[in-house]
Parts: sequence; C-alpha cells; structure tokens
Amino acid sequence: MTFKAEYIWIDGTEPTAKLRSKTKIVADGAELPLWGFDGSSTNQADGGSSDRVLKPVFTCPDPIRGGANVLVLCEVLDTDMTPHSSNTRAALVEVAERFAEQESWFGIEQEYTFFKEGRPLGFPIGGFPAPQGGYYCGVGADEVFGRDVVEKHLDLCLEAGLAISGINAEVMPGQWEFQVGPAGPVEVADQLWIARWLLYRVAEDFNIAATLDAKPVKGDWNGAGAHTNFSTKAMREGYDPIITACDALAANAPAHVKHYGAGIEERLTGHHETAPWNEFSYGVSDRGASVRIPWQVEVEKKGYIEDRRPNANADPYLVTRLIVDTCCSALEKAGQV
Ligand code: ADP
Ligand code: MN
Ligand code: MN
Ligand code: MN
Repeated sequence: MTFKAEYIWIDGTEPTAKLRSKTKIVADGAELPLWGFDGSSTNQADGGSSDRVLKPVFTCPDPIRGGANVLVLCEVLDTDMTPHSSNTRAALVEVAERFAEQESWFGIEQEYTFFKEGRPLGFPIGGFPAPQGGYYCGVGADEVFGRDVVEKHLDLCLEAGLAISGINAEVMPGQWEFQVGPAGPVEVADQLWIARWLLYRVAEDFNIAATLDAKPVKGDWNGAGAHTNFSTKAMREGYDPIITACDALAANAPAHVKHYGAGIEERLTGHHETAPWNEFSYGVSDRGASVRIPWQVEVEKKGYIEDRRPNANADPYLVTRLIVDTCCSALEKAGQV
C-alpha cells in the first residue's frame, strides 16, 4: 500500500516568495525521502544547473486528501546539502536554538483578502462597497463575504493538528484573519506556512483566490498585516522584561521593518490603525503604535507584546528570527532571563 505526500516549499520569487507543492507516492512504512525539483522554474536556479533539493522538516496529516496522506513542509537545499539562499528557515533554527532556554512563544495574526474576478470578494463591479465600519467581526450577507471558505479552512487547520487559535472577519469586506499560536518560533512559522498553503488550496475549490497583499485596495481601506505577538518565559513572569523587549525593538527598528514584508511603506502610513513605518513607538492598548502592550498585560504586570508592523506578506521565518535575536539578546544582556 502507498500514501500521498504533498511536498510543499517556499520558492525564490522576489520580493515576496510563493508556495509551491507537488505530490510523491510513498510506500507505507517508508521514511519521507529527500526529493528534488527544477529550481529554474521557481527563481531558485539557472537552467544550466537547475536541480534543488527538498528536505522534509515538518509533517502533518493532509486534511484535504484525508486517510494516511500527509503534508510535508520542506527546506530548500543546494545539491551540496547547504541551505539555498532563499531558505530563511535554516537561519531561524540556529537563532531559536541559541536562545531556546528563554522559551519564546509567538502568536501570529494572519490577515488576508479574498479576490474573485479581479476584485475583492464583496466589492461590486466597477465600484466600491459602503465605507469601512460594519464589516469587522460582522454578520449577515450584506457585510460578510466568503465565510464558507473561512469555516472550511479553520476545520482543515484543526484536522491537520495546527495550533490555529481563532478567526475573524476584518475591517475591509472580503478581508479575514486567522491566528496561529502560541507556539515556539520555528513551530509557529512552519505551521503558518502550512496554514497559508491550506488557505490557497481550499479557496481554489471555491474558485476564489486568497492574497496576502499588504495593501490590496489603495485609498481609504485597511491594509493586511501579520501582527506578531511575542513573549519569553521572563516576560510571562514580569514587567521589566516587557519594557526591555520594547526598548530593544525600538533600538533595532529599521533592521526589522526592512524584513517585515514587501510594500510596508504603503501599509504603515500612520492611518488605518498603523504607526508610520519609519517612526517607532510603543504603548499600552495603543493600536496606533508600532508595538502594543495589551491592557491586561499592564494590569497584571506580565504577559506579552504585540508587534503590529509585520505585513500579511511577511516571511514568518524572518520575523520570528529578528524578534528572538533582538529581544532575547537584550534580555540576556540585562540579566532578565
Ligand atoms: P488582537 O486582539 O490583536 O486581535 P488576537 O486575539 O487576534 O489579538 O491574537 C493574539 C495572538 O496572541 C493569539 O494567536 C494568541 O494565541 C497569542 N498569544 C496569547 N498569549 C501569548 C503569549 N504569552 N505569547 C505569545 N503569543 C500569545
Ligand atoms: Mn487579531
Ligand atoms: Mn486583525
Ligand atoms: Mn492584533
């Protein structure tokens, strides 16, 4: 007997990588082998030397095919078995291991937008729907578009065993969010990539496209982000480490923003619940700050912080690596671990 293994990887498309996948038939009981692909078709190689290697790194049940079938997230390697230049996971694994004893947790809020026939789901032909205001967490056929896809996606993520923690309708019609976490940096990022793949895949069955574009509609419409909630063991136990983490993010703001997703200047304008991309701020309950300290965290004097800057199209391997590196080294320096 055999099962189907869907090998999923992140390609080399610039400025925002895309997901790719293909199916391998594997004999029952066999290990998931290394596999290869044509890197010249994915911006990961020249035609003359095109072979790239897929190395399985995370496996879960395939909730689309069911049965014994699996989804297999892979890292891309060169044929000498070193990480390919598009492989951002390998560097995260190193940093995560270096700071493992600080026990970092992440919860990522993935916003996205459904498109059909060239416009966001719920937008009328050649025009705009009623202005924003009633759509966020709305109910009813005049305010909510695509719920059948969203519900199906949630069920698939749960069946796959992902740490999905919730969903909600967003501020713009056709825009939604799901959250993954809390989980460690590598785990949350692997699972987010799989959840993204499942989103595209299930939307395909509804003849709808999902996009992570950070500003899918220009003008007075909210962009799409990937708010990244973060804590270490010390932050979950006290307030000084929370402030240390915020100050460290302040000191490293430009280096973070640079890797928080393509087109970030268009989304972080200072309007639509964002802070300007080139001015760092943090504050309690402040949805106009770069980093928000939730109100309960200030009351309880412990908990987590929310980095509101990452774009919906950000690479979670980059975002979590930068945050762990910046905050955990600052906490270490401050003797707050
Ligand atoms: P918002 O109020 O900004 O919309 P959400 O409820 O959408 O927040 O998302 C918050 C995310 O933060 C969830 O994924 C949740 O699991 C995660 N989270 C909760 N506590 C922590 C923590 N201590 N460290 C990291 N992430 C956390
Ligand atoms: Mn949210
Ligand atoms: Mn949101
Ligand atoms: Mn948020």
